[in-house]
Amino acid sequence: MTANVLGVADGRALGCSTRVIVTRPRSLATASAAVDEVLAAIDLAASRFRDDSELSRLNASPDRVVGVSPLLAHAIEAALRGAELTGGAVDPTVGSAVRLAGYDADFDAVPREGAAIRLVARRIPGWKAIQFSAAQRTVVVPGGVELDLGATGKALASDLAAAAALQAMGGGGVLVNLGGDIAVAGEHPLDGWAIQASEDGATPLSDAEQTVSITSGGVATSGTTVRRWVRGATVLHHIIDPATGLPVDTCWRTVTVAAGTCVDANIASTAAVVMGERAPAWLRAHGLAARLVHVDGSVHRLAGWPETGKSKADPTIL
Ligand code: AMP
Ligand code: MG
Repeated sequence: MTANVLGVADGRALGCSTRVIVTRPRSLATASAAVDEVLAAIDLAASRFRDDSELSRLNASPDRVVGVSPLLAHAIEAALRGAELTGGAVDPTVGSAVRLAGYDADFDAVPREGAAIRLVARRIPGWKAIQFSAAQRTVVVPGGVELDLGATGKALASDLAAAAALQAMGGGGVLVNLGGDIAVAGEHPLDGWAIQASEDGATPLSDAEQTVSITSGGVATSGTTVRRWVRGATVLHHIIDPATGLPVDTCWRTVTVAAGTCVDANIASTAAVVMGERAPAWLRAHGLAARLVHVDGSVHRLAGWPETGKSKADPTIL
């Protein structure tokens, strides 16, 4: 534990805003450099928006056994684990579905409005189509399948960046926030890391918003209100229902989850949006503290998520 004099650095990476906070302000530059290095490596390994990424090259080599870097292997493993834990609600084979819905470039470059597009409902290929060997670090992506690591990859980047920053600092504590995917490592401020649960990660800190505090693990938010666009008369967003391959028609517009790692929090938050009405039972069964905002605006708090004000949501291991 440490007194609350923190160092804060804001930036932009992986198509979202980033924030690094350290408990020992003198270590801020060291922590930020370590974070930047991890984010650049993840971008080069797992971005679907750059042709030179390892993921783009993998997607362009169907039906072949492809050797992958330890980092991409880690990201694929996390994505497949998410699929298994959620019964396929979170599934990295959403790639072509996300692209066909119009999210085909870094989000800043996706026009918010445009002409109508033809949407065809079709179940996504499914994660079981991917042949992955963690031991050999090889992957076979069948023809017609596009891997998208947008959900778990960014959360993994947060976890790895926090761990790398802690190691580089050689002590102290750090919080890394990548557009709402938050991981902490090392020591924490006196009352824990205060995290504001907002629907939009860009919301300025305010007393009107609910704050929770964590001392380890991660918090992730997934939702349909921020990454959305309009084609013709249809409002589209970035979370795909694997059953239809289309943006999911869900009762939750925003879900925030605390867990033992940011990856686990993100698996659960994305899954909850996809699961809709089934999400509360699934989250309770896993003992995950969660805050769900219904499309009617009502807020539902589960498994120890505090009712109001500043208090603690203890992370659970998924
Ligand atoms: P998140 O904001 O963490 O919930 O992740 C959403 C991102 O993950 C989207 O921008 C897509 O790139 C990808 N995605 C969309 N739907 C799914 C899904 N059902 N399973 C896994 N990844 C998805
Ligand atoms: Mg996320």
